[in-house]
Amino acid sequence: MSKKDEMKVPRLGKQLPRYRFFLNPYRHERFSRCPQCSNKTGQRKLPLFIHIDPNQPFLLNKTCRYCSHCDLLIAHQNEVERLILTAVPTLDEETVRGHYLVVGTLDRADWKRIIQNDSPVEATIEALHDFKDAVVFTPVGGWGR
Ligand SMILES: [Zn+2]
Repeated sequence: MSKKDEMKVPRLGKQLPRYRFFLNPYRHERFSRCPQCSNKTGQRKLPLFIHIDPNQPFLLNKTCRYCSHCDLLIAHQNEVERLILTAVPTLDEETVRGHYLVVGTLDRADWKRIIQNDSPVEATIEALHDFKDAVVFTPVGGWGR
């Protein structure tokens, strides 16, 4: 297991950054164990803030994998894309793929308030915790255990 890449993402949210984030592109790898430390991951349901090109913010309340040792949050790419397509039927698969960025998370209370009040995007940015960084893991001779 190697950590291939650490990307610095420009800050958008007004709250303190939280979580290291991995958007899992491997359809058959569910990461019940952490790709970094091999400990068992838990589940955490969180409102994700997603930016869809060119200028469409999107909130998705989604169950993710989480490793508390590494502060690593993992979302499965195919699930995220399927949920975006379900929620925004005007988008097609080609448009979505490679044209969105999972930016960060919101507190559940903020998310509920924003959904209920149909708040403008500024309110969402105000409540947004960006990810500390986005990480990518690649298999090295299979997933180490
Ligand atoms: Zn870990």
